[in-house]
Amino acid sequence: MDFSFRPLEGGYEIPMRVVGANIYYEWLIYILMWIPIGIFLYGVYKRVRIWMQARGEGDRKEPVGKRINSFLYHTLGQTRVIEKPFAGWMHFFLFWGFVILLIATASFALWNVTGFPPLTGNIYVYFSWFIDIMGFLAMIGIAALAYIRYVQRPDRLNDSKPLDGWILALIFAILFTGYIVEGLRIAAQIKLAPTMAAIAYEKTASPIGWIFAGMFSGAALESMLSWHRFMWWFHMAISFLFIGMVPFTKLWHIFTGMTSYYARDYQPQVARPVENIEEAETYGIETIEEFSWKDLLDLDACIRCGRCQEACPTYNTGKALNPKITIIQALKKHMDNKSPFMLGEGDGDMEAVTMTTEAEIEGVIETEKHMIYDIVTPQVLWDCTNCLACVYHCPMFIEHVPKIIDMRRNLVMWQGDMPSEAQMAFTNTERNYNPWGVGWANRADWLQERNIRDLVTLLPEDGGEFEYLLFAGCAAAFDDRYKKAGEALVRLLHKAGIKVGYLGTEEYCCGDWARRLGNEYLWQTLASQNIESFQRYNATKIICICPHGYNTIKNEYGQLGGEFEVYHSSEILARLIKEGRLSSASQTEYRVSYHDSCFLGRYNQIYSEPREVIQAAGGALQYIPKSVEFGFCCGAGGGRMWLEEEAVEGFKRINETRTEQLLEVDPDTVIVNCPYCMTMISDGVKEADPEGNIQVLDVCELLWQCQEQVADLAD
Ligand code: SF4
Ligand code: SF4
Repeated sequence: MDFSFRPLEGGYEIPMRVVGANIYYEWLIYILMWIPIGIFLYGVYKRVRIWMQARGEGDRKEPVGKRINSFLYHTLGQTRVIEKPFAGWMHFFLFWGFVILLIATASFALWNVTGFPPLTGNIYVYFSWFIDIMGFLAMIGIAALAYIRYVQRPDRLNDSKPLDGWILALIFAILFTGYIVEGLRIAAQIKLAPTMAAIAYEKTASPIGWIFAGMFSGAALESMLSWHRFMWWFHMAISFLFIGMVPFTKLWHIFTGMTSYYARDYQPQVARPVENIEEAETYGIETIEEFSWKDLLDLDACIRCGRCQEACPTYNTGKALNPKITIIQALKKHMDNKSPFMLGEGDGDMEAVTMTTEAEIEGVIETEKHMIYDIVTPQVLWDCTNCLACVYHCPMFIEHVPKIIDMRRNLVMWQGDMPSEAQMAFTNTERNYNPWGVGWANRADWLQERNIRDLVTLLPEDGGEFEYLLFAGCAAAFDDRYKKAGEALVRLLHKAGIKVGYLGTEEYCCGDWARRLGNEYLWQTLASQNIESFQRYNATKIICICPHGYNTIKNEYGQLGGEFEVYHSSEILARLIKEGRLSSASQTEYRVSYHDSCFLGRYNQIYSEPREVIQAAGGALQYIPKSVEFGFCCGAGGGRMWLEEEAVEGFKRINETRTEQLLEVDPDTVIVNCPYCMTMISDGVKEADPEGNIQVLDVCELLWQCQEQVADLAD
């Protein structure tokens, strides 16, 4: 390496760029660069040390291959980010522009020192052209992101902080000064060149730099050379500032995001297991250190993009819960303020911090704040419907719902603190195995009541063989409205020639809602009883009509040793229609709005089967924007079915808000696929359509109506 001063030349025999030409003491940069690198490494060490204080179970080692794949796919493709197209693609340009510039800077530095890689001739021209274009795209990207934040100002970015703007400005300044430096260099080279042809290769190699050079063409050569030196050092200084800032600002998401892509939860639809519940010394999570390292990493990974907030039904109906602010950011602030104590560095004299909740108690030190009561607050935790929209739409794979359930577990099983309605539903279920509290011995009565007793094998009474076990769930057994949906399903299966077994009094509540309300003990009791019943009658294939039972039996009973083949009714019905075992309508009869159940859709990606059934049954599906993965919760998931929902002033309740969305397309029929949705949406439709012109039906009911109509026509 040549440490002496190298003057700039007006072009070279072989196209190339002499790194550091015209810069006095350029070699200093190779020493100075260790300052920001040192600060960066120190910052990383500090953040990682905080995560290492986590005591919760956070094993994310397996499956390695899948995790590496996820890391590469989501990092390189920015796939989660571009799900929001404009902001996402701008971020894509910024990300890739920066990565390419980083690689290019390192390559040029390496070439300068070692002569390798050979960045001369055509390699230089093509490589330099690519960098120039990518850098320009990055500049467009950062400008567009600033435009979104400060001109468009979407509600999801409602917590902008001054540092957000400074970071955007810093990144823009790094990119922009890069072009200024390049422009000054090229402008000076043009002046120094004996002929234009000697430097013409730069027009191709640095097209954007060439344009910038045009802006300086009127200046004197000496002035250009001086400004080039000054801007070069300035560009380096702000680039170093950027590197040093990474672990201490939201720029840290560059690394936490990539780590989260690797360590993400592959089954967000499954509540975290609790091993040996009988021997547990505490329940749920009460302090920040009890979370897992991935939970703490999540707090660092949040970029406050607000996609979770935008999708959240509770935020959209004015509740205290905002997954971005009152969960993730509140916990992040708490973690940061408590970290000196967690690391044993606190002196107990820390200034009180401004909290986002009612716990803004001046003078209270962080260690004395109760994470659930003072930082998050129980109200925020009880607001959640577990609809999973936050998790599903978060570009960083942050796990909001498991954290909420963990804190609810602490409230219910450790503090004994829960809404009275939840307490009542728990007591009802403990006594009668259903949240309504109807006598357990009556669980099979609905069969007689709906006149379908002969269509199923009632196992405790009839015994014998069956092909599928029907897990009807509590709603089909005890809710008068939903008994009709249960009846329709039984009739459809019977018509298709499927022999169905039913457990009657040996079927218990699936426990989903109890688990999501935080009563893990009750869920484990109910799940174990059901598993025993399934095994007693050798049930291997199970059909559920309720998505909550479907999800927990299919995805969660395995935690207690219960592995079964589980289907939702709409999956079976779609298959039976395809096989010709159930009839299809010959023409469309209904103008239909379909409400996606969260526990079928986002939890289990069952989107197409119910739509196939609806269309086969003569339903003309109308498109509503909040559907499929963007579906809006009915308000009853996560155990909210059993809790009162107070409407917030200026907002409608969640079910009314959802009903409005469903009625926007002027349907004559609203189709649901879940007993909770049936209750919530029926209430909403009654309110919006007191004359009763719009019917609310379950998918099974619509298809059974179709079978009857086809039979009538045939007669
Ligand atoms: S939690 Fe995820 S979706 Fe929500 S603001 Fe943070 S990064 Fe965005
Ligand atoms: S699960 Fe649904 S209701 Fe709960 S925080 Fe997430 S988006 Fe909001």
